[in-house]
Formats: sequence, C-alpha cells, structure tokens
Amino acid sequence: MTTSEPTASADREVMIRLEGLTKRYPGQSQNAVDALDLEIYRGEIVVLVGPSGCGKTTTMKMINRIIEPTDGRIIMAGEDVTKGNPDELRRKIGYVIQQVGLFPHMTIGENIATVPHLLGWDNARTAERVDELLNLVNMPAETYRDRFPKELSGGQQQRVGVARALGGDPAVLLMDEPFGAIDPITRDRLQNEFLRLQAEVRKTIVFVTHDIDEAIKMGDRIAILREGSHVAQYDTPEQILTAPADDFVSEFIGRGASLKRLNLSRVADIELRPWPTVSIDTPPAEALQTLRGVAEASLLVLDGAGRPRRWVNAEDLSRADGRRLDQVGLAPRAVVEPRATLSDALNELITARYAITLVVDDTGAYQGVVDIDQINEAIRTMRASAVDQSRAGLQEQP
Ligand code: ADP
Ligand code: MG
Repeated sequence: MTTSEPTASADREVMIRLEGLTKRYPGQSQNAVDALDLEIYRGEIVVLVGPSGCGKTTTMKMINRIIEPTDGRIIMAGEDVTKGNPDELRRKIGYVIQQVGLFPHMTIGENIATVPHLLGWDNARTAERVDELLNLVNMPAETYRDRFPKELSGGQQQRVGVARALGGDPAVLLMDEPFGAIDPITRDRLQNEFLRLQAEVRKTIVFVTHDIDEAIKMGDRIAILREGSHVAQYDTPEQILTAPADDFVSEFIGRGASLKRLNLSRVADIELRPWPTVSIDTPPAEALQTLRGVAEASLLVLDGAGRPRRWVNAEDLSRADGRRLDQVGLAPRAVVEPRATLSDALNELITARYAITLVVDDTGAYQGVVDIDQINEAIRTMRASAVDQSRAGLQEQP
C-alpha cells in the first residue's frame, strides 16, 4: 500500500479505524476480507472500489456489523465498537443500499421517521426532521410526505433512501452502490445532488462502487481494493490518476486518465466564456444587426428571467418575419449547473449543435458557456499541477 500524502494525519481526525479487519465465511478456504487496515477521516467521502467479489460489501457490512468480523477491530470516534451492542451501533450509522429497501406499506414520511422513532424522539421533533430531510433531498415535503414508495420513480426512491439514512443525524453513512440500479442520466443528477448535500451535512461516508469513474467523482479519498480487500492504493483521486501505485491500479483506472480527471473539476472552478445574448422581445431585424456585430455565428435568446430559450443564427433571423425569437432557431439542449463536472459539460457539448454547453444557476438563469478550448485548457492545467504535487510528495517523503 502506498500513500503519497506525507501530512495526511496532521490536520485530520480519524473517524473510523479498521484494524486487521478480517472475515472468513464458513466453508471458505480464503478470507473474503483479509486483515484490512484503513483510516477514514471525519467529514470525508471514502470510496471503496475494486472488482466484483474483492470484498467491498463484506467490508462495509462489518463496519455496522450486519456481518460480524472473524477477527480485527473497528474503532469509531476513538471507541472500540467491535464488541458492544450492534443495534445501538447501527442507530449511529446511516445505511443506503442499491435496492433502497424502503418499507412498502409505510409512507415516505414514516420511512424517514424510522430511526428517530427508535431513538425515542417526540412526534413534533420527528415531523420537523422528516420535512427538513425531504426538502434537503429536493423532494418538497408537502408533496411527498404522505405518498407510498411505489408511487415514486427509482431516482426519487433513492433520494428517500438517503433521507432515511440521515434520519437520526448519524455521523457516519455507509453507501453500497447506492446509484447502481439507476439510469445513467438520473445517476449523474443524483451524484451531483448528493455532493451538494454532503457539502452541507459533512458526514463521514464510506461509499462502495465497482465503477472507477463514480469513485473519482464522489471520493475525497479512494481505496482501490484487490481480492481479499487488500489495499492496492489509498489516496486522493488526483494522486491515483497521476501516480498509480502499480499495474493493478493502472489497469483498474483503465485508459483515458486525462478524461477521468475532468471528473475532478467543476464548472464553477473555471472561468466561463461569455456568449452574445439577446432578449426574447427583440425584433428579429434588430437581433440580426446584433449578430452581424459579433464574432460568433449565433445568439442566445434569453427570456425575461434571464433563462436561455433559443439559439438563433442569421438564417433563422432573416426568415423570422414577425415571429418572436422563441419561435425560431433551436431550443438549447446542452445545459449544466455550476456543480456539474467538466466531464458532464464535455458530454453535453459533444452532443450539442454548436459544441457549446450553457451554464445556468439554480433558477435556470444564464451564466456563461463552456466550450472545448476551455476543457482542453483545464486538462492541461490539472495535469501540470498534479505532476507538481506528485514531485513535491516524493521529495517530502522520508
Ligand atoms: P464485492 O462487494 O466486492 O463484490 P463481497 O464482499 O460481496 O464482494 O464478496 C467477497 C467474497 O466473499 C466473494 O468471493 C464472495 O463470493 C464471498 N461471499 C460473500 N458473501 C458470502 C457469503 N454469505 N457466504 C460465502 N461467501 C460469501
Ligand atoms: Mg458488493
């Protein structure tokens, strides 16, 4: 195992420490998890990633003792929790799984209230908490509180699963392939939402996935595991992409490390390009004048609230006679929010007519655009700074 961060423990508090954690299933000749040592820092998302069968789920389920370890210890916030009451332990740890596991006969509100009830909170406090959590996961409480799980889409159920896991305000969340069963577009949205939520709640999160791209996107730190939960590398996503510890890690990252780095940077981190805009009420002839005065081949039409409505070019405008600007041209399709990654922005722009991704704030108002030159520039900058860091890390190591 390598860690190329020499100051790792100086400013961070260890929230979970796994010491020689081992699981051997009955009748098996090898340990499913074999003497795993791992330190997980408070407030971070640590992703356990590795090939199927390497022991990720077993590792995670030992942390809340759904699976009892054969050997080793789990220290949580300084306390050895390997032996005490497992039910008590589980109330302090939120748990989110792929199949969500909502109780079908209970309303959304009752589902989320599960742990608060177990903790003996009174009705008023519980009700307040339920509404707070629903709003936190972008599901207005008035609309969803009294519905049943089967009345929700898969993505909505997953949001409720997260809300329920946060019910008792646990310091630790365990998430096992939480977005694995969800279509790619919704998964992307849920990932972004979850990162925004985590920026608010700052839980210590152990997140399991077999998908290296998801690991890079979600992780503050990634443990790449091989069979037996042996740690091949435990490091930041930047370091794993820049300085893979061995061939196993390189192979697991696969090709396209540069493209994967785009998952590390967000639209909000780069300077957006301006694009010429025109208001929706502008007469087409006047818009055509504006277009002639700019270098770009199209204008972005904004409505009264500053939201993008149309792309219009010279041809659209010259044929517009008397129509409003939202009746001509093309509807903008490639649109992202500032929290989206550059990878999201790139995915959008390669499918867009003008190879431009629009950036809007959370009211939908236009902020600027991202184009391929900015993405290239971002890759160059990240590569340069990652190499610098890697050199610095090597020099400082004893
Ligand atoms: P992952 O989540 O990384 O896919 P698991 O932790 O589920 O891996 O499994 C690790 C290993 O333990 C695998 O070889 C799997 O077949 C084995 N295993 C998992 N659960 C059991 C079980 N209940 N009984 C016996 N072997 C198991
Ligand atoms: Mg698994």
